[in-house]
Amino acid sequence: MAVNQELLSGVVQKVIAELMKGEAPLATDFDGIHASVDQAVEGAIRAQRKLISLPLTTRDEIIAAMRQTVLDNNERLSRMAVEETNLGRYEDKIRENILCATKTLGTEDIQPVAKTGDHGLMLLEYAPVGVIGALTPITNPTGTIIHNSISMIAAGNAVIFNPHPTATKTSASMIRLMHSAIVENGGPAGLISAVAQPTLDTAREIIDHPKVNMLVATGGKPVVKAVLSAGKKAIGAGAGNPPALVDETAHIRNAADCIVSGASINNNIFCTCEKEVIVVDEVADSLIKFMQETGRAYLLSPEEADRVARLVVNDKGKINIKYIGKNVQLILKEVGITVDEACRLAIFEAPADHPLVWLEQMMPIMPIVRVPNVSEGIEFAVKVEQGNRHTAIMHSTNVDNLTAFARAVQTTIFIKNGPAYAGIGLGGEGHTAFTIAGPTGEGMTSARTFTRQRRCTLVEGFRII
Ligand code: NAD
Repeated sequence: MAVNQELLSGVVQKVIAELMKGEAPLATDFDGIHASVDQAVEGAIRAQRKLISLPLTTRDEIIAAMRQTVLDNNERLSRMAVEETNLGRYEDKIRENILCATKTLGTEDIQPVAKTGDHGLMLLEYAPVGVIGALTPITNPTGTIIHNSISMIAAGNAVIFNPHPTATKTSASMIRLMHSAIVENGGPAGLISAVAQPTLDTAREIIDHPKVNMLVATGGKPVVKAVLSAGKKAIGAGAGNPPALVDETAHIRNAADCIVSGASINNNIFCTCEKEVIVVDEVADSLIKFMQETGRAYLLSPEEADRVARLVVNDKGKINIKYIGKNVQLILKEVGITVDEACRLAIFEAPADHPLVWLEQMMPIMPIVRVPNVSEGIEFAVKVEQGNRHTAIMHSTNVDNLTAFARAVQTTIFIKNGPAYAGIGLGGEGHTAFTIAGPTGEGMTSARTFTRQRRCTLVEGFRII
């Protein structure tokens, strides 16, 4: 039974042409940015239909070009992200973009599954969902857009972004660049897009739009809740408060080095970054000493720590957003402390009920809490993770302790003996994701996350053994 490729593609083209009848094509100089959500949705529907009529090899070429354009424009994009949002560090944005461009999975993630047996063949394919509405955070105006675009297109979808209103310029530049790479490599215009002025109102329009098939929210609790109550398929990637637990069996110098590196990358704005250290009393002094010896951590005295806490936590007990993602030098200068340029993190000993232990601070100020033993450490770390099911880190050489914490904390990502960023593939194995879906359970999202499963059954035949 030979498949007539010409006939097949002729039929597909005809169906698509019929569906597109009467729809105005996008202007030839369209760059990915629309005036309205309605226009974006119509453009995305059209582009997605075109995408699925193209060969998979073209899809692969489009994705390769998207990766390359990020790498080619990385310096400019990273600089723009830091300047526009005033968050994070240029050199770390560079690493973030390289990570997303090179370690986001492509079409290899949607390989079909075949099962043969006495009754013939069953084929399971990962089909596109259609048009996806993606809401992205201020903390990663490039990373999340790179990761989402590659994953969603690899799965055969079109995506409309509603970037954070404070990162509009950077996100639009990112979208324009990748849009141009798509079109120049044979892909359809409008496959990725955004509106020129994203706001909470345009987010709501996208969420409620009947022709948007799936929603993906990467951000805090309110946006996750907003997409989950939309009455359509939604993926929620929410906030975390990752504890780093250190027991008495850990290689303490390595733990110190990993925590300083992990907690200070991008000034702590990654959702996966270590947000508090919990250490068994017996090794706490060594850990603190080794953290200082990295030359990148400054130990605040109790009195200095109080001043810093009063600065970064407001009267209502919330994080003062003015200091999110800022360099440690800037934060400490506000309370009269000067540290040298090599410093990346301020550390201090905190009681268990200190607000910075419980809040997602997203700045390079790290509380360290002593616990009498590993069992109490595990119990406390589970409490401070607060059921986010996001990320936890442990430094230990005791397999029983590692297993006990991993079981108890139930996080999407669990890192052993490394910086938290190893869990998103930076210096750790596995693909990267900048949409880590704890609340809805998809975990480290990838192309397959943005699909729906379709089964095709052939009764009898096609079993060749
Ligand atoms: P945010 O929740 O304020 O904003 C995220 C996006 O949602 C923005 O585009 C914003 O405009 C939109 N938004 C916010 N509230 C909304 C609502 N009620 N309805 C519709 N849209 C809404 O988050 P942020 O400050 O931009 O980013 C930081 C947060 O995101 C942190 O809590 C961090 O942990 C989290 N985050 C999570 C992941 C993950 O993969 N789990 C990745 C990055 C950041």
